Order: sequence, then C-alpha cells, then structure tokens
Amino acid sequence: MRRAAVAIVGAGPAGTAAALRLGQLGVRDVVLVDRADFPRDKTCGSGVSPRGIRTLRELGAWDAIEPHAYRVTGLRLVTPGDREVVVSGGEAAAAVVCLRRTLDHALLERARALGVDFRPGVTVQALRTEGERVAGVVGRDGREIAARFTLVADGAHSRLAVDTRPPRTLQAIMGWWEGAPFRGHHVEMVFDRLVTPGYGWLFPESATRVNIGICYEDPAHARNGRHVFEAFLDKHYARRLRGATQVGGFKGHPIAYTFRIGRLSAPGRLVVGEAGRMVHPATAEGISQGMRSGIFAAEAVAAALGGLDERAARAGYEARCRRAFGASFAAARLWRAAVSSSALDRVVAAVQRPAVKTALARLMAAM
Ligand SMILES: Cc1cc2nc3c(=O)[nH]c(=O)nc-3n(C[C@H](O)[C@H](O)[C@H](O)COP(=O)(O)OP(=O)(O)OC[C@H]3O[C@@H](n4cnc5c(N)ncnc54)[C@H](O)[C@@H]3O)c2cc1C
Repeated sequence: MRRAAVAIVGAGPAGTAAALRLGQLGVRDVVLVDRADFPRDKTCGSGVSPRGIRTLRELGAWDAIEPHAYRVTGLRLVTPGDREVVVSGGEAAAAVVCLRRTLDHALLERARALGVDFRPGVTVQALRTEGERVAGVVGRDGREIAARFTLVADGAHSRLAVDTRPPRTLQAIMGWWEGAPFRGHHVEMVFDRLVTPGYGWLFPESATRVNIGICYEDPAHARNGRHVFEAFLDKHYARRLRGATQVGGFKGHPIAYTFRIGRLSAPGRLVVGEAGRMVHPATAEGISQGMRSGIFAAEAVAAALGGLDERAARAGYEARCRRAFGASFAAARLWRAAVSSSALDRVVAAVQRPAVKTALARLMAAM
C-alpha cells in the first residue's frame, strides 16, 4: 500500500490544478491518479475564458499553454429568430481555445515538476475508509493508496462525489473539421430552438481547424443526439462544411451542472470540478471552474494539514466555491429563459447601438 498526505482522483483541470497548488504551497507526498495515460483527449469545446487564463497564469502554466492556444477576441451570436450579431470584447477580454490534450498535459507536467507523484492507468473503484472517514482510494486491481485527504476530481460520471441529489445533465455531441471558413479569432454561439436552452457552437482551434458542437437538455434520453446534431449542422453549417474535411467521428459526452452548489465535502474527502457539478448551466464552461475549485480545495487541505480544524477547512472550501460560482450559476436561469424566449432576439435587434453592443460583449465575457 502506498501512503500519502493527499490522494487525488482524476487529472483533468480540477485535479491537476489542485495537485499543482498543493505543490506551490509546499505540501509533499501528493499522489495524483488517472485511469488514462497522458497526453489524452477529452471531448470538449476547449474554450478557456479570460478568468481561466488568469488562473492558468496563477498556476504558472500559462507560458507552456499560450504558444499552443488560438486567441479569441470576438463572438458571432445567432438568436433563435435567426438574427445575428458580431461583438468584440477587445484584447482585455481575450479568451483562447486550447486542445484539452495540450492544456491538461501542460497542467500535469507543471504539477509533476513541483513533486506530485502521477500514476496513470489507475482506475479508482472505491474510496478507502477508516471508520466514518475517507482515507484514500482503492484501484480496480485492488491496489490501495492510503491518504489523510482525498480529492475527488473524476468528472461528469463521478461515482465518488458527496452530493446525493438527482444529477442535472446537458447532453453534448461535437465534431472537428479542417478547412471550414470562419471569421478569424471569433467563436460562434448559435441559439436555435433545436437545442435551447442549450446552444450550438463553432470554436476555432487553429487558423484552419474548428470544432462544432451542440449541448441540449434531454433528461428522458428521448432524443437521438446524432440526429439533432445533423439537423443543426444542416441548418447552420451545411454551406461552410461543403468544402471542409471532417477529422475523426462525432463524439458525445454528458455535462453535469447545477444551479445551486450542493455538498462538496465529507470527513477526509473534498469534491472538485465537474464531479461537484461546478459547470456553468448556461455556457457549459467547466475548465475555469474546475481549476478554481481545485485551487480552493488545495488551500483548504494545506490549511488542515497545517493544523486548522478539518471541519472548518472543509466548510471554508464549500463557502469559497459558493461565493465564486453561486451567483452566476443561479443567474444562468435568467439567461436560459432569455434564450428560450424572444428576449435574446429583442436584445440583438437593439444591439446595433454601440452601447448595447458593448454591454452584451461585457455580459458574455463575464459569464
Ligand atoms: C462537448 C463538451 C464541450 C465542452 N466545452 C467546454 C468549453 O469549451 N469550455 C469549458 O470551460 N468547458 C467545456 N466543457 C466542460 C469541461 O469539459 C468540463 O467541465 C471539465 O473538463 C471538467 O474538468 P474536471 O477536471 O472536473 O473533469 P475532467 O476533465 O472530466 O477530468 C476527469 C478525469 O478523471 C479521470 N477519471 C474519471 N473516472 C476515474 C476513475 N474512476 N479512476 C481514475 N480516473 C478517473 C478521467 O480520465 C479524467 O482525466 C465541455 C464539455 C463537453 C462534454
């Protein structure tokens, strides 16, 4: 059995940010496990918001990521009534699209450079317990890691989280194309009744390659995702994809989200990132929230290892997550109502006025 101060399950943005922050804080003996070996792909639009970029800078990972990231300074938005607006957030609001294969690996490499022990190919089957307390993990092959604290960062399908409420999920499906024309350095968000309150997107990954996808509600699993996606592509992208080459097949993946953050911890265990449903309900953004919650969890664990009462450390962690994301997750209900009604059309009709255009750009960047 391996003994560690902290065991982390999942090396996505949440788990690697937590590991990295623990390393920055000088916590030794951190073991990070993932069922995959890295670099690995993750089905994702790979958009990183200005907030996410600030977090990558704090983590000291931005320099390794920036050369591989495609810069985004504007947005083309299409409403359910087929109105269109192009807004620019300007350089201050610049975001990027960076392949998850690159982003996650860069975070992982930085964590390893700070002494984190990464173990690929470990599928965690269960949590170890000592009495009422979680005390590490058990792999599918029976190997155990005993740890004083365990961070659960295993993503949308988490079976190790604390929140017992029925999950809310968006279904998502996407594909990749080379050679489809697009407005340089602009992402596209398409609000179509086929998918609202979700949306469809086109995100450029380089000067020549884009990913296109949709996310939509389907709690009863009654819709065929491929058919919905094909109808969406036909309506919005058929002309532009005519001369383009599809790269690989379509990929589907659920997105776990919440309007109200539930329980994120229990004795010995803190849940971070999408395992804790910390994904924006309107935009499906989860990279930035994953990293930020990973940092909060690392700081709570470091404080507890340094002598702070564990209950206080865990309560502090949950409070920080609620403060950081609670208001914008709750406000997402308004956005979703707006895009499901004629409200977005009315805003876009008014947006030709520069002040409204600037306000919309600011709102989108802040979400
Ligand atoms: C189609 C789609 C498009 C998206 N687009 C965007 C976007 O453009 N921008 C954005 O910010 N967010 C986007 N998201 C959301 C984003 O991908 C996630 O919210 C984000 O990856 C969450 O990070 P995480 O670290 O919590 O989990 P993940 O990135 O899912 O990482 C979890 C890790 O845990 C590992 N794991 C899982 N189970 C086990 C186990 N039992 N044992 C060991 N390891 C395990 C997995 O291999 C994985 O590496 C999108 C999601 C989807 C599905």
